Parts: sequence; structure tokens; C-alpha cells
Amino acid sequence: MFLAELSDGVSTLRGVGPRAESRLARLGVRSVADLLLLFPRDYEDRTKPVALAEAAGRGKVFCRAAVVRLEEMGHGPRRIPKAVISDGKTRASLACFGRSYLGPALSPGREFLIWGSFRERYGELTSGDFELEPVSDSPRDFGRILPVYPLTEGMGQAAMRRLVRTALEALPEGLEDDLPAELVEGRGLLPSRRALRALHGPETMAEAELGRRSHAYGELFCLELALFRRRGERAASRQRNAVSATPASIVPIAAASGLQQRLRERLPFTLTGDQERVLLEIHADLAAPARMSRLLQGDVGCGKTLVAWMAALSVIEAGFQVAFAAPTELLARQHAENAARLLEPIGIRIAFLSGRVGGEPRRLLLSALAAGEIDLVVGTHALFSGDVEFRDLGLVIVDEQHKFGVLQRTSLVRKGQEPDLLLMTATPIPRTLALTAFGDLDVSVIRGMPPGRKPVITHLSRQSHEEKVYRRVREEIDRGRQAYFVYPLIEGSENLAVKDAETAFKTLSTSIYPDLPVAMIHSRVPEEEKEKAMDGFVQGRTRILVATSVVEVGVDVPNATCMVVEHAERFGLSTLHQLRGRVGRGEQQSYAFLVYGDSLTPEGVQRLRIMKETGDGFRIAEKDMQLRGPGEVLGVRQSGFLRFRAADLGRDADLLTAARDDARRIVERDPLMARPEHAALARLLAKAPPPEAAVLEAG
Ligand code: ADP
Ligand code: MG
Repeated sequence: MFLAELSDGVSTLRGVGPRAESRLARLGVRSVADLLLLFPRDYEDRTKPVALAEAAGRGKVFCRAAVVRLEEMGHGPRRIPKAVISDGKTRASLACFGRSYLGPALSPGREFLIWGSFRERYGELTSGDFELEPVSDSPRDFGRILPVYPLTEGMGQAAMRRLVRTALEALPEGLEDDLPAELVEGRGLLPSRRALRALHGPETMAEAELGRRSHAYGELFCLELALFRRRGERAASRQRNAVSATPASIVPIAAASGLQQRLRERLPFTLTGDQERVLLEIHADLAAPARMSRLLQGDVGCGKTLVAWMAALSVIEAGFQVAFAAPTELLARQHAENAARLLEPIGIRIAFLSGRVGGEPRRLLLSALAAGEIDLVVGTHALFSGDVEFRDLGLVIVDEQHKFGVLQRTSLVRKGQEPDLLLMTATPIPRTLALTAFGDLDVSVIRGMPPGRKPVITHLSRQSHEEKVYRRVREEIDRGRQAYFVYPLIEGSENLAVKDAETAFKTLSTSIYPDLPVAMIHSRVPEEEKEKAMDGFVQGRTRILVATSVVEVGVDVPNATCMVVEHAERFGLSTLHQLRGRVGRGEQQSYAFLVYGDSLTPEGVQRLRIMKETGDGFRIAEKDMQLRGPGEVLGVRQSGFLRFRAADLGRDADLLTAARDDARRIVERDPLMARPEHAALARLLAKAPPPEAAVLEAG
């Protein structure tokens, strides 16, 4: 929700001087609106007191009790006051650690309202972290629900509450609502002003939640509105293209079947129904004047890459070039090798470009690209550098697209004359995310796997039982198979009792499997060695590959049947799912061993159990998003990606659908939203972040 009118700086509020101003700035609070939109991170329900007898072990609670007597505890100079209190039925004590000054106020007979956590200790119920206030007719901090704000140094909870209250009281009466009232009311939500009151000073917890949901709806509505508008813009560009000269986004598909047919004939299998269907969807886009923006989703190993090669062939046959980008050198090289194996025999001219291709080879490659002497260039983000020119770029394919920033994606797209764009991701994207993060893309999904795949059998194992895992892996290797061992860290850290790849590599290669060839890759291994290690593993010479999650994306070694992940608890569920997808790619039964630290809590084990229970990437992703948030699921860490102030995609799926329906209705009724009564909407839209803006910062 945007409070455009409240753009005054916080210093205009009573009681905010330069010091408070700079402290608030650290919380991102600069204007009065920012302050009002500083969402409580929690609430303290101090409405009804509980009996002391029920206070133990419940976290902080509200009690009402009288002082029975004042004692001292401890020895010598460290003696502190201790008040014995009673609520008439039960006795307890308040220990004034570091707060000896409280002593005089705690006189016997006096009655207090208390907020604190109580513990049973040596047979006595006691609290050391309490706040209190004498019973009165108008208690200051009791009898209500108090918001708990995020704080910064020098800015205490009480000061923050006071400030927000001041800002609320200063809210102008006639504050115009940003969202049309019909929408808000239609969804049973509160208008801005009441939503703010509900948020900062709710009478019940239900009211606080309603306040949050009202704001959440506003956020989601803006996002969806922006998405619909962007789609509208693309449709408009389609009409423009239709009248201009043939841009690269129009690929005459009818002529394209020749190369594809030849590839089909060379394949030892036929495409699955899903692959065929998705290919048709892509073809329809390619043949249309609008630039394709399609996301191809499908679990690891479902055969997306093959679909991409087929699409590339259509485009090449129509006389255009294709760029295929992968997020890591390793993966890009593997794709280039596969492309060479599959496509060179049918006459496709292929090149590979990464940051490591330099000097004369690079110069030659770039001039061949610019002259149109290369049909397909496979590479890393080096494809996006400024000096890479194409003669006629018709299609850009981005594998594991979530590993790239949007900025990079768009810089490649700008290279051609509006080339079509095919994004691929093996991260199953929950519906709520698909409707938000990628709401302006068309989506194709491959659900099934190629025939003959056996589901990976997953075992959970405690670290202290690891011997068993080593033995099972040994059996597999004796049958001629290979194994991955994955660690959360590259190197050990002194103050962290977590296994790391470097140390594990030594242990595995010298004491556990001294007779077997073991290799290691992680991001700090020099490219050349990484390549050697990977080649050895692909060719089966190396039997065990020790790695960090760099093996997560793309790597394809069908003979590897064991995936051991150590400290599995330190990986997100989506990452574990990707890691598990590295095995089960061949004919043989494969296994994943998720080894967790001995100190893992029962909840932590419960979280890992979902990996054992299901191989369905979509279910795992839903769960992961609930647990860790959307940014983590999509791999755009640290970006604040889709971190709404109020909305929570895990909890608010219903609101999202509602916001989407409402936004669509509004856009359909009034595409330009120019009507005066929608001035507020236009303003909202101007302020709404472009849906992918947050990803720009991610790498
Ligand atoms: P993705 O890119 O979706 O992760 P890949 O393209 O790596 O999947 O495919 C995994 C493996 O499945 C590859 O070895 C590929 O050759 C094979 N494959 C692809 N399509 C089929 C199919 N229709 N039938 C059998 N195997 C297939
Ligand atoms: Mg892949």
C-alpha cells in the first residue's frame, strides 16, 4: 500500500531530532509513510493475565501479582534484589539481575502487571526478564496488544512504539485510499487508514492479521497490475512487429522440419508426449511476430535440453543464429560437447565461448559470429559481454535461468533484432511464484520423465552411522558405479563443527577409499583442474567425486548412482532435490544418502523427511518456499526478491489469486486506466516495482 501523501520526512514528527532521524534511516525509515509501513515483526498479547500456575515454559506471558516480600540473592557485591510475588494462588519470584534499582519499588503489598517468561528452577517459579508496571486505572503497556518492531542500535522498543503512535495520530483524516474501495471491501479487507491502525494497535490478534492481509492484498494487487500491463505492452509490440519488416522473432517454421527430422533420426529414442507438446508451443511462439518470452519448466533430467536443441534447429534452418547460455563453465562445456555430438553431424556450426576463451581464438570466434559463420554459440555469461556481436541472432536460450540476473538476460536479448527468448529452469516453481516472479512470461511445463527412469531411493542417516553409508557406496562402486559426495563448505572453519569438501577429500581418498580414484571440484579449484576432474568422472575413470553444491546444476553422468550429501540439514530442500537429480539418470537403481548432523532437532529431521517421502519437485518447492521464502527457492539470495513487507507467498496464496483476478478485471475494463477515478491506481502503478526489478541485483 502506498501512502503517497505522506512523503514528509520523519523529522517532521514531534520528537524526532537528527539523532533519531539517522537511527531510523538505518531501518530504511526516511518518511512518515516508511514509519507507518514498518511492519511489526511480532506482537505481545497483553490483553488478559494468566495465572502464575500456568506461566511456566510458555514464553513471555502477562501476569498480575502482588509482592509478598523482598529478599536478596547472591553473595557480596553481586547481591541483587529478589521479589517473592503471589497471584493469590501461586507464588513465584522476580530476580532483578543487573537491575538493583528496581528494589525500592518492589515494596511488599504492592500489586503489579508483569510481562515475562517464567521457569521452574530448584522448585521455584522464577523470572529474570520481566517488565512491570504498577496496577492502575490506565496502564501504559498492559491491557492491550503491543507491536514488536525491528530495532536498531539506540532505538528501543518503547521509543519506537511511541513514534509510530505519533505518526498514526498525525494521519490526516481525509487520507485518500490508494486502492479502489470496491476492491478492498469486496475482499472483506480494511481501507488504508483502518488497516494501519489494525496493524500497529490491534485490539485482537485477528485484527492484526486482518491489517496485515489488507496490506498484503495491496502489494499483490500492484504486482499483478504491473504484470498485466507488461503483457499488454508485449501484445502491442506484437501488432507493431506485424507491420514492420520481418524481425528475428518471426521464424518461418514450415521450412524448418528438415534439420529436426535429421536429429530425430539420429536419436536412440523418441521424444515423450510432453516434449512434443512443449515443442509445439515453442514453435507457435517462434512463428508469431511477438517476441517469445517463454519459461520452460521441468524437473532435472526430464529432457528440456533436447527440446531446446530442436527449437534451435528450426531457428537455424530459417537462417538465424542461436545463443545458448549456461550458468557455469562446467555446464556450458557439457552442453557444448553434447551439441557437438548431436548437431555437428547434421551440419550445424558450433562454437564455445567463456571467459577463458581469450586472445586470438576469441578474436576469430567473435568475427565468425559477426559474419554469421557460426550457427550456434554455447557459453557462459561471457556471451553477454559488450563486444560479442551477431549477424542475425534469432533465439536466445538460457539454461537454469534463475542463476542469471535479469540484467544479463536482457543484455543478450538486446543483441539481436528482438530475438526470441527461451528460459529453462529445473527449479519447480510453485504456482504462487509462477504468477508473481514470472507472471509476464508464458510457461511450458514438462511433467513426465523419459520412460524407464527408476525413482531414486532416498535414505536419511545420522552422521554417527555414516560407516553404513560408506559401506553401501562401496558396494555400488564394486558393481562398477560411481558416487558423488557433497559438502556444504569448501574448507573447514575453526568455530564451526561442519564437514568440508577439502578435509573430506583427504579422508575419503586416504582412509576410506584409499584404493579408489577420488577427485574434487568446487568453486575454488582452478578451471583447468575442474575440467580434468570432471572429464575423469564423466569417462568413469574417477569413481568418487567430492564436491560442493556446484554439481547441483546440469551435470549428467548416468553411471553415477550414489549421491551422498553430508550435513544435508544445511541445504535447502530445493537444492537437495537438484542434487538428488544428479543420480537416477541411467538404467540402474540409484540412491541418495542424506546424512545429517547428530545435533539436528526432531523438526530438522522432519524437514528432511519430505525428501524421503516424495520425488515430486513441485511439492518439495512448495514446502521449501514456506520454510525459506521465495528468493531462496529461486536462487536469488540476498536480493530481497519478492520480499514483500506484508505479503507472504507461503500463506497468502488465496490473496494472490484474488489480487490477480481483481487486477485482470480492472485492466480488461479499462486498459489504460486513464479514468479519473483511477488516478490513484495510475500512481500505484508508477510506484510498483517492476516485477523483476529485484532480480537485477542478483548475479
Ligand atoms: P534436463 O535438461 O531437463 O535436465 P537433460 O536434457 O539433461 O534434462 O536430459 C537427461 C537425459 O535424458 C539426457 O541424457 C537425454 O539424452 C535423455 N533424454 C531426453 N529426452 C529423452 C527421451 N524422450 N527418451 C529418453 N531419453 C531422453
Ligand atoms: Mg539441464
